[in-house]
Amino acid sequence: MPLTAAPIAFWRGVRDGAGVVVDLELLDASDAFTAWLDRDPHEAVGRRYSELIPTGLHRRLPVYLRALQDRMPARVASRRDVPDGVPVDAEVLVIPFGNDELLSALWDVSEPRRQFDDLVFSRLEAVAERDLFVAALDVVPDAVAVCRVRLGDVGEPVTVLVEFVNEMACGTSGRQPETSVGTDALTWFRQIDQEAIGPQILEAALDHLPRRLRLGTSPTDGGPGESDVVVTPFGNDRLIVTWRPAAGEAGSGGVLPAPARTDPLTGLLTRSEFRRRLAQWMRAAEPVAAIVLALDLDDFGRLNDIVGPRKADAALALIGVQVRQLEPSAVLGARIGADEVAMLIPGAADDGTLDLVRAQIARILTTVASRLALPPLSVSGGVRVLDADTTVDEVLRDCDTAVRHAQRSGGGNVTVFSDEVRHSLLLDYLWAEDIRGALDAGDFRLAFQPIVDVASGVRIGEEALLRWDHPSLGLLAPDRFIPAAEATGTILDLGGWAIDRGVARVGEHAGGGEVGINVSAVQLLRSDVPAVVARALERHRVDPGRVVIEVTESAILPESARIREQLVELRRMGVLVAVDDFGSGYSSIAYLDWIPADVVKLDRRFLLGDLGERRQALLAATVGLVHSVGATCLVEGVETAEQHEMVRAAGADLAQGYLFGRPDLDERV
Ligand code: C2E
Ligand code: CA
Ligand code: CA
Repeated sequence: MPLTAAPIAFWRGVRDGAGVVVDLELLDASDAFTAWLDRDPHEAVGRRYSELIPTGLHRRLPVYLRALQDRMPARVASRRDVPDGVPVDAEVLVIPFGNDELLSALWDVSEPRRQFDDLVFSRLEAVAERDLFVAALDVVPDAVAVCRVRLGDVGEPVTVLVEFVNEMACGTSGRQPETSVGTDALTWFRQIDQEAIGPQILEAALDHLPRRLRLGTSPTDGGPGESDVVVTPFGNDRLIVTWRPAAGEAGSGGVLPAPARTDPLTGLLTRSEFRRRLAQWMRAAEPVAAIVLALDLDDFGRLNDIVGPRKADAALALIGVQVRQLEPSAVLGARIGADEVAMLIPGAADDGTLDLVRAQIARILTTVASRLALPPLSVSGGVRVLDADTTVDEVLRDCDTAVRHAQRSGGGNVTVFSDEVRHSLLLDYLWAEDIRGALDAGDFRLAFQPIVDVASGVRIGEEALLRWDHPSLGLLAPDRFIPAAEATGTILDLGGWAIDRGVARVGEHAGGGEVGINVSAVQLLRSDVPAVVARALERHRVDPGRVVIEVTESAILPESARIREQLVELRRMGVLVAVDDFGSGYSSIAYLDWIPADVVKLDRRFLLGDLGERRQALLAATVGLVHSVGATCLVEGVETAEQHEMVRAAGADLAQGYLFGRPDLDERV
């Protein structure tokens, strides 16, 4: 069982007015723990034990609280039911750390030996793999060593080998974690107090009882100052040894002050720590103008899919480094979600501050992308101005609203929260009502834009483009209403209507070539597009080979099996599939190979700007790429004769653009 699969959680004590620990707050947890709770990791963090844990298990809470209060580890036997299997005998180990923190871990006693073997891998690897346990041990303020006991012939403990030590344990002794693994743990303590500690460690290994010792010197550097050492046996042959300066001696004995509770990957504060510190900051008497900025990477899931999770993690880690370097102009840098970062920026929310914020974001993204050789990164930001009577939760909620607003307007921008912003999101829902009404009233139309053969200029088909003939606003382009329709699910009906009308168009013009119909990712994810198309084909008695379903490149996640399945099914029915807007995202050869495409439509950005030799070469290479996967290549946005010539020279098959005809509501072919 790999360690990451173990249910491990970090808690902080919640104290009442009298300073007595009455509950625990979840600071961090392994995926296995939140899975066991059946909770979303982000939603579980920050909540209390009494809220999170099934009531039957509440009797354990007093044991944990006592462990925290006494700073003594504790162990609780537990029998874990396995669905359709033999119940597993397990033990819950709770270890107090730092000032007020507690680690709880559930181990299967049936197979203890293998459990810690995974600890012996390189630390960087651990962080890269987001191994919560190892990484978290690196940020606790105590020195921690995990040791394995070697037994002699008659079962007596002979040696204790170091299997893992954290940064803090090495910090003051000048050792390296990597070279310490496998060394004799007793020699770590030999120089100071071997008499006192050596036998105690061996005894603990024998009787399996935890003990707490006080040493006259700091264990690893031998410097002056009393230390508290806690030895916790677990499993059959493992020990955890932790040490810290004795109470009242913080700062002496070579142990550093407790570091902040941070996210292991980015080094930024965790969400709960951010909330705590922001609350402190907001409570502080001096009213200083400040804003909270939340950032959400656009399309991070896609980046993950394309460059792999390791590189995506490296990007996050590097963003963390850069955000920390913004201090003191931005403080409390925190990772508040998988790909979300927040920070507090002292200063008024005027144009000067916002321009600076934008410039800094742009610089960070360029640095990260260029150092890791990633495709260009884009981020959406939300700003909330702090005022006297807001709570931390309101601030975070409003930041989130502003971020969603920024994303809605295409991403790559920063929105400052206001009531209008909130209303505009609410408006989506009002729009949705209107869209339904308009569908019933027949206010939607399809405009058809010609598609031509590049070499001959002959029209071979057309693309159906939605228009809303709005009673008061006039003719609306899809960009005005499709985002709202997607956000609210109305797109399913609207898109269904467009499919039906698009297919009908094929039937109406027997010799008229192909008709391209756009479908959005929401339709592919939430409805059965092949079934909708099949019904339309049957109703209008149309040859499937004349229907082209266009799916925008950015909608097709390599990992989204459902979307791919639907595209495969459409092709099985004989319908053609087109990848739309190719070249507007992270296009790659591997990606084209993965998508079942008959036609690839190159985004019109290929034709924008300076059309020099380089551009010609790029276009020709891209056309070649499309041909190499056996697809037909169409170039969009041809407005001038010069562009037409370039598209022809590049070897493209089809073209579309104002040069050949605008989208036309008149139903003429
Ligand atoms: P798209 O699929 O990339 O459609 C091409 C867009 O480029 C159309 O904008 C078209 O009018 C415009 N266009 C065509 N030739 C030229 C040109 O030479 N120069 C310039 N500057 N633009 C040109 P439109 O009609 O505003 O549609 C915008 C987008 O809305 C479409 O992009 C498509 O993604 C989406 N859309 C349209 N109809 C539907 C639909 O029925 N369902 C869904 N889900 N999306 C649709
Ligand atoms: Ca299209
Ligand atoms: Ca397009």
